[in-house]
Amino acid sequence: MTHPLLDLPPLTAEHFAAVERRVAALLATGNDVVITQGEALLPLEGCVRGGARPGSTALNVVTGPYGQTFGDWLRDCGATVVDLEVPFHTAVTAAQVERALAAHPGIDFVSLVHAEAATGNTNPVAEIGEVVRAHGALFMLDAVASVAAEPLLPDAWGVDLCVIGAQKAMGGPAGVSAVSVSPRAWERFAANPGAPRRSYLSLLDWKERWIDAGRRALPHAPAQLETLALEACLDRIEAVGLDAVIARHASAAAATRAGASALGGGLEPFVHQAADAAPVATTLRTPAGVDAAELVAKALAADPALPLIAGGGALAGEMVRVNHYGPHATPDTVRASLAALGAALGALGVPVDQAAASRAVDEHA
Ligand SMILES: *Cc1c(COP(=O)(O)O)cnc(C)c1O
Repeated sequence: MTHPLLDLPPLTAEHFAAVERRVAALLATGNDVVITQGEALLPLEGCVRGGARPGSTALNVVTGPYGQTFGDWLRDCGATVVDLEVPFHTAVTAAQVERALAAHPGIDFVSLVHAEAATGNTNPVAEIGEVVRAHGALFMLDAVASVAAEPLLPDAWGVDLCVIGAQKAMGGPAGVSAVSVSPRAWERFAANPGAPRRSYLSLLDWKERWIDAGRRALPHAPAQLETLALEACLDRIEAVGLDAVIARHASAAAATRAGASALGGGLEPFVHQAADAAPVATTLRTPAGVDAAELVAKALAADPALPLIAGGGALAGEMVRVNHYGPHATPDTVRASLAALGAALGALGVPVDQAAASRAVDEHA
């Protein structure tokens, strides 16, 4: 008996290249796209290690935990790092980025996370891209949590390195990612003696062995299942249209915000302004005296399939995340998530209005 996952014909170079072209179309980019065969941290680390070197100065915008990781990699490459840290309940502004660039004219690399699934905020990349371009620095964007959840236009926004992953709003597996690379970024990598070469982190290897060689032969055996799964994500997005997928995420976020406020009981949107809130996931602040990890555990005990998780690290006591992305970006999942949180609050003696929450979700369905 043939097995649907195991007994597959080999994935050809043509097939792999065709999936890359479809990722490029999804990003509306004319730059080279490389599918990277691992979780998105693989291309993110490859981009940092290719773009930064001793003598570089990097502006690292920290609006959540990934920015902290990028700062560590940048320092490890010998770059001088200017961290621009913004409280997790808000977004960074283009004016803040502009001031940091003006204060440190030597900045030649900027790293930014677009949407933060972990803290629930999203940053105005179009406006930030303008000030970064005016300064002339190379611009790396982590768009793992924004792709397919909100508009993402790396070329129009002057993004040199745009990293995406399949596992959030695209509704796919975690083991495959992709990056678009501008000609400027390729030049920077090529001129960097410390850029990874003959390494799993090397994007230059892919340029030399795959792109410049005409995409005729894959440099090593491709991660077949993940590539096919990425293709299946693209099929599913194209079948309904990217705009519809984005709209579904926007509605889920609006419904969660409105529903949580209507629920009462002191569960409040963690991100103060709706415009700063990410469509991929909504973070909620628990009322005083209610531990977020405990509340989530209670809610999940009632329904383990709900996309609920407490905030990471120090946020575990006060932040609940509703991960309404991919197949979970629906009014039903939002309604069920809020109902479970409401029931858990009720069990702790906090009064809530479940009917009002459900009505608020309906208004955004
Ligand atoms: C999910 C995500 C990643 C990928 O990292 P994991 O923690 O392994 O899922 C990278 N960047 C951002 C902004 C993400 O939301």
